[in-house]
Amino acid sequence: MNLEKIMEKISEKLSKAGIELSQKEKEETLAKLKLLIHEFKIPEKEAVRTILNHIARNHNISNISEKMVFDSPEVKLDSLENEKRVTVKAKVIQLWDSESPSISQVGLIGDETGTAKFVIWKKSEKPKVQEGKCYLFKNVVADSFNGRKQIKVTKTSEIIEIDEEIETPKREIEVIGAMVHIQKNSGLIARCPKCKRVVSKGVCTEHGKVKGKPDLRIKAIIDDGASVYEVVLNEENITHLTGIDLNKAIKMAKKTLDRSIVLAELKKKLLGRYYRVKGTIAGRYLLVSEINHFEDVEAILNFLPTEVRE
Ligand SMILES: [Zn+2]
Repeated sequence: MNLEKIMEKISEKLSKAGIELSQKEKEETLAKLKLLIHEFKIPEKEAVRTILNHIARNHNISNISEKMVFDSPEVKLDSLENEKRVTVKAKVIQLWDSESPSISQVGLIGDETGTAKFVIWKKSEKPKVQEGKCYLFKNVVADSFNGRKQIKVTKTSEIIEIDEEIETPKREIEVIGAMVHIQKNSGLIARCPKCKRVVSKGVCTEHGKVKGKPDLRIKAIIDDGASVYEVVLNEENITHLTGIDLNKAIKMAKKTLDRSIVLAELKKKLLGRYYRVKGTIAGRYLLVSEINHFEDVEAILNFLPTEVRE
């Protein structure tokens, strides 16, 4: 970066922190930067740190990190390291249900080298990302959770949509296995009409009280005896396997005034049976492109799932 550019960044970041430099201060700071870097041959980062400390003292605030001025290095997802601030260029592969009200969005991103979970904290006040779009996630924190790599978007991060296609590694696989578990937030669910989040008791964690739009989905575990895969089935998959579509599910729930009847019925029809699932692997998820009943008993005997839960 040239010094004018660094200076621009410094005043931009300070302005965000509520400090407006006067023209005079800007000129003086630039002159100091030139002196430190060109005359005294001090490395850029150190020079910027010195300058920021000086400004912080003059404005009676605690120190400002020089990390705010320099973007963190861009890395590929397969070389994420814990506790590092990094920049990654990745595609949003899948959005998941937010696990907590402090999370704005959570899901899976991918680049040419692999995938990672991402978490965007609500406090970071970032615009929403969309499935299938590519972004530059600048200055995010890399760490791991339960042995899985993830990045976290905080207030000092930036998310910039980019007009570029990123090819994520497509690991097409076919699995034959039993559906051994269906999660409780499955069946007839309601989604927020604004953000499509699953609403609980009529409340969206983002938009408060909303009139939820009904939808059918199943989150399940498929076990092929060697591995377990998490799958999400949409209305089309569910209708194909059970004959129950959204309208029918709504009718069932209305008749009994109880939506859990739908989940109970789907469990009865789906659990413990065998399926041939085609899809791509993303982390622990198998993104379903096709799912069919599998009735070949001989072949099934070769696949012994570990244990049928529920
Ligand atoms: Zn919402």
